[in-house]
Amino acid sequence: MLVQAAAPDPARTAERADAATLCPVCGSHRASPWHRHRDMVLCRCSDCALVFLDPPPAPAARTALYTDAYAGASTSYFAKRERKLKRSRARVGLMLRQLGRGADGLAFLDVGANGGFMAEAARQAGFTVTGIEPDPVSVAYARHNFPGIDFVHGFLEQIDLAAAAFDLAYCSEVIEHSGDCNRFVAALARALKPGGLLYLTTPDISHWRRPRDLLRWDAFCPPAHCLYFSPSNLTLLLARHGLTVSRRQFAWKPGIKLFAVKSTLGLDRS
Ligand SMILES: [Zn+2]
Repeated sequence: MLVQAAAPDPARTAERADAATLCPVCGSHRASPWHRHRDMVLCRCSDCALVFLDPPPAPAARTALYTDAYAGASTSYFAKRERKLKRSRARVGLMLRQLGRGADGLAFLDVGANGGFMAEAARQAGFTVTGIEPDPVSVAYARHNFPGIDFVHGFLEQIDLAAAAFDLAYCSEVIEHSGDCNRFVAALARALKPGGLLYLTTPDISHWRRPRDLLRWDAFCPPAHCLYFSPSNLTLLLARHGLTVSRRQFAWKPGIKLFAVKSTLGLDRS
């Protein structure tokens, strides 16, 4: 059965109107059920248009989701090593151009390090690199293949990283997996030095090329993806944690790609 994204169930909307589902980004009470997928409910905020899984996955379910998430290091996913490294090097180049300086002496945080390809590309460019990854199989692969890098197993929000330790944080296609986007962004902001740079990408539910039928959109996969942002509500979320969007890249596919800078004023709500 195809479920149309733009067809909220009026009965359910009315039924839950008093449930006080708060929008985690703007705090509005005007968030209501918008789309049902199997036994899951996605709410949409009428004020900022964030779409979010309500309730988010329980911590235990989240851990299970990210154990051997890539079905083993011997699959074709990790076999595409050279292609992944090449693509990662290109992205490191993009980040260095945005930084406007060389990598030597700078600390790089790779959030959602996966098999370690971006972390390795950053190390090759001269950064000192820390990678964080919740999937133990991916961490084992990364540690074995890229021994010059510190890979930490776990979720960003649960790891006790040193505060203000990183010049650059890379977070690609990760925030949409977060059960609590405020804790997640607070942890990102906390890890960055004042003036530090964040490069973040995530699917864009507001994009003009996003399939109207959610089931035909490859980024629609609750409960793994539990947050669906637009550029404006993502900008708002980052701003709440002292991260100011400094540049947005054009995205031909339904995605958001942006750079944000951590405030030098010490705003940190973590
Ligand atoms: Zn909202």
